[in-house]
Amino acid sequence: MTEHHGAPDHDMTGHHEAPPRESPPAAARRAPVETAKAEPVHYQGRVHELQKELMNAYYAELTDIAKGRSPKKNAHLLIAGNPVELVRAFDMVPVFPEVNVLQIAARKASLPLIQKAEELGYAVDNCAYVKADVGLYLSGYEAPYGTVPKADLLLCNYVGCNVYLNWFEHLAELTGAPAVNIDIPFIRSADGEPSPQDIAYVVKQLEELIGLLERTTGTTLDWKKLQRTVELSAYVGEMWAEIKALTQLRPAPYDAYFDSVTMMAVLYCLRGTEEAARFFETAVADLKERAALGKGPLPEERFRVVIEGPPPWPFLRVFRDMFTRWGAVAVASTYSTVGGIWEFGFRHDPQRPLESIARHMLAQNLCNRTFLQRYDQMARYVDEWKADAIVIHSVKSCRLFSAGQGDMREYFAREREVPTLLIESDLEDPRYFSQAQLRNRIDAFFEALTQRRITAAAAAGGVA
Ligand code: SF4
Repeated sequence: MTEHHGAPDHDMTGHHEAPPRESPPAAARRAPVETAKAEPVHYQGRVHELQKELMNAYYAELTDIAKGRSPKKNAHLLIAGNPVELVRAFDMVPVFPEVNVLQIAARKASLPLIQKAEELGYAVDNCAYVKADVGLYLSGYEAPYGTVPKADLLLCNYVGCNVYLNWFEHLAELTGAPAVNIDIPFIRSADGEPSPQDIAYVVKQLEELIGLLERTTGTTLDWKKLQRTVELSAYVGEMWAEIKALTQLRPAPYDAYFDSVTMMAVLYCLRGTEEAARFFETAVADLKERAALGKGPLPEERFRVVIEGPPPWPFLRVFRDMFTRWGAVAVASTYSTVGGIWEFGFRHDPQRPLESIARHMLAQNLCNRTFLQRYDQMARYVDEWKADAIVIHSVKSCRLFSAGQGDMREYFAREREVPTLLIESDLEDPRYFSQAQLRNRIDAFFEALTQRRITAAAAAGGVA
């Protein structure tokens, strides 16, 4: 663990903005669409309601396990590139510490947990997801939405983030639960494809994992059940890709950052289940209907943006409103690919379940990809989803996401001439969210974008 440096006293929003080239004269500035002020925007809908039902049921099941009312075993695992299909095939329930703690942050209850871990010796600079999870354990795993069961197995899936290893090692030390790590080689090829040797290496570890899960549950693997689970993942992946393609329409029928997180909860916590399949059938139908009616999440879609980086969970609504007031809608986001990238064609394969799980872990999630692959992914979003700008939300906790984002901003702003804004806060720790400064930066950026549009329209002899 690193040294404790005390509370931060610096400005987390900094001066890293790379706005459009023109700096608008004050007289030419246009006011944002003040929808949030005049009439609050309601973001809830059918999909949100159904998600809430499913997530409540999921946490009720976890609580039953924790309280000894259910004999089911559980495994704690990480979101990015995991083998959840194997866990489900053994009727074990997956527990996702990241999802647990982000929900606590969204309820503005993360700080006491973070501070508990800091009292234990965690540095201010450590990932706040880890600290909140450790703090949650130290608080008896009692969360506002239910009780988290102590792990029967800590199943670390190491994909790109070395914090994962230390996190689960420390949990093993604290809780006494058995821990195992699946070692996933980082993608090293220029085309982003894993080598046959990499796939064989991961498949071999998955076979060893099957033996461990058999010993943990006292059952043997039902191959047909695994195939069905993988088939359900493929089906859900297909629908999720369909949903992602819908935001290529104008207006986008939903916000691919703020609304995607609602669907991601089900995609991650319930992937490989019939419930997830039914949820996504409803989501596809609902969002297609909205698209056919030309309905977007806002009264007017004025700007289409790509958002990079995780959201500031303790201030999600406030953060969203900062974009809403400018009529800005996210048409794509890298955060929604942390747990898997399906929009470019990958599907699990029930005929080759272990190999396809290995491929997913190796190459089909954001965290195990190279930075250049992330550039390519974002460039595709800008081009194919026809975005006007990129917003990079850099979070202090997550070096996996934020390291290199300054260069990323330079690359898109200068080399590709895409207006790009870099702002900073945190995904879990409310101490790093400076509302007024964030709002100023976002306002200045969209003012400049507005002016750029006016100038371009005037040059073309039209109106903005
Ligand atoms: S550093 Fe980032 S990827 Fe790693 S555990 Fe923390 S939030 Fe997750």
